[in-house]
Amino acid sequence: MKMADILSLKESVLVYLDRSGGLQKLAEDCKTFSDPQQVEAVYRFCISVNPSDVIELDPVLGDYVLHDPLRATALFQSVCFLAIKTLSLVEKIHTQSQVNVNLKFTHLPPFPEYTLDLSSFPRVYGPMRPVFMEGLVIAMTRVTKYTQGARFLCINDDCPCSTGFHHIRVHAPGATESATVRNDFSCMICSSQLKEDVKFRVLGDKQLVELIHVKALDVLTGHQQSSLQYQSVTLFLRDELCNSMRIGQLYRVLGIPAHVHQWPNITWSIEANRVQLWEPEHPQEVSASFQELLKATATSPWRFATVVAHYFGLDVAPPGLYNTLKLVLLLSLVLTRADAEDTFHNLDLLVVTTDTLILDRLMAYSLTLVCRGVRHQASREMFASLSRDEHGAGTANIHAGSALLATGGICMLGDLGCYRKDKLDAIQSVLESRTVSVFIPGKKYGEDADQQVSFPIQCSFWAFTDLSQRSGRAEYATLGTAEMGPVSTQLADDFGLVIQCRDIVGEQALLHAQAVHTLQQAVQSEEPVCPSCWKFSTQDYKELIAHAQSLQVELSRGAEKIIHGYYLASRRVRTQNQGIKMSVASVKLLISLAEAHCKLCLRTRVLEEDAVIAVLLCENSVTLKHGASALVIPPDTMFPHDLGDVDGLQERDVTLDKLHQDILHFIYAYAPGADTYITEE
Ligand SMILES: [Zn+2]
Repeated sequence: MKMADILSLKESVLVYLDRSGGLQKLAEDCKTFSDPQQVEAVYRFCISVNPSDVIELDPVLGDYVLHDPLRATALFQSVCFLAIKTLSLVEKIHTQSQVNVNLKFTHLPPFPEYTLDLSSFPRVYGPMRPVFMEGLVIAMTRVTKYTQGARFLCINDDCPCSTGFHHIRVHAPGATESATVRNDFSCMICSSQLKEDVKFRVLGDKQLVELIHVKALDVLTGHQQSSLQYQSVTLFLRDELCNSMRIGQLYRVLGIPAHVHQWPNITWSIEANRVQLWEPEHPQEVSASFQELLKATATSPWRFATVVAHYFGLDVAPPGLYNTLKLVLLLSLVLTRADAEDTFHNLDLLVVTTDTLILDRLMAYSLTLVCRGVRHQASREMFASLSRDEHGAGTANIHAGSALLATGGICMLGDLGCYRKDKLDAIQSVLESRTVSVFIPGKKYGEDADQQVSFPIQCSFWAFTDLSQRSGRAEYATLGTAEMGPVSTQLADDFGLVIQCRDIVGEQALLHAQAVHTLQQAVQSEEPVCPSCWKFSTQDYKELIAHAQSLQVELSRGAEKIIHGYYLASRRVRTQNQGIKMSVASVKLLISLAEAHCKLCLRTRVLEEDAVIAVLLCENSVTLKHGASALVIPPDTMFPHDLGDVDGLQERDVTLDKLHQDILHFIYAYAPGADTYITEE
């Protein structure tokens, strides 16, 4: 390139820095290096670059920025050095090589050539240039040190390079540690050996992260039986980007691919340049069939959710079977999410059943309705596992287990009877603390000290326990309690909500109903299961759940009164008669259930009627664990009638209305403190 061209490019860089506020930021950053006592080999500056603005200003410079970022960086470095010298910003910077410039891209043009699909092969070869990708973090190392820059001196005392800052080496994207610091470099002037001046070495932070295409979850979690394989890519996070990613979360990453030469291998990795949390878009509309249903059921605050639950999962279970379970699965799906303030909402379920087959199928089907539904496989790790990093850091690489992969979604544990005692203890501890701790032995991973790292567990757990295998079923000690199989009362308590799925009609009748349903499904797949009923597709349910999740709801005073009144009354009754402490967590559970029911009904105001559903589910759950209280509710409260027609829905409304009154009476009788704000209807 001609000298004149280079000068013109540098001029454009200067104009860009001036217009974009980069020069002002450079001057401010220089103030942090003002301490004359602290002398280092290199000084690091981050410069924000908007490719569109640069292209508009100077297309040639813009082309360098997007297609040859190393050359662009050199131009910015040269201009920054000139600015620092001309404006006397940092006296102790003597040579251009001491200025370590990092261009930070604001974005990339929205064209396919700048997008890297993590599921496609072969991956980008050729020149190193920035690309954009989306993916899920499945493993990460701890933060370790790397050499940002080092100063080398010539061992020949007569050479001018034996002092000063002539030989400076700075880390370049994709370079290994030995490319920056080594003892076989030679002097450019006299060819003598160079020796590092170790007291000037500048260290930075680095962290390695494994990113994978989000579709890989389907394979990892056994949703999909396919021969597809997904390979993760390794991201290098440096300095300010360290700790900007969390295991189990989705991100949009802008980075520069690089080949890392590590004899005898060459690995392909990405130097991250910009990292952003990524939330996939939710459909804002629900399907026409659900909108129609919403209109048709507008007369009652209970009906919409009732019908939605009744026709849920028809591919795996006949309508009307386990409606309470279906409703609760839907509530858990709707509720489980992290909101804008990063507060996590969850609803853990434990189902006591004699019918593991249908239960397993219903849960597995429900998992497919959200993007983060993970079915734990016995062969995989549940929380986290360790391996040695293979990219030269040698540090511990922490891999996400099922619960971390399910971040923001559901982790299905399946039959708790299949877990050993130590696993059950681990589950219990995670349910209580909502975090998982990983112990990293220092000796094994090249650190001086052992370390313990904790990760938040942000998913809802679904599990069931099988009662049919038990020989000589014990008679229940207390009226209403259920035998829990291998599950201790403490563990059951940690699950939040316990429900029972037993066939009341008898196992033979159930088998018959299931067989008839399966046959019907097989022969008339296009026809509705029953003539009068609604028909909703799996896609309809997906959209409904996604939309319901996004709703912001607020508690009405009526709902609040019922929840607090029931909590006070129930705590009093159960402490007095059964010696059970109702924890404050049950208030949170009640509020969550009421909010979830409100969302499932596509409303934004939580009504008394939502609170009634919450109380019924909660009371039922406590009864299964500890026996009945003075608020006696029948075990099949939620769905006592055949819902095949409008009469069934009408009857259910009447029953729920009566239970609403019963709850108010219960509160009135046992929580006198609460009666000031409860007016009897
Ligand atoms: Zn020399």
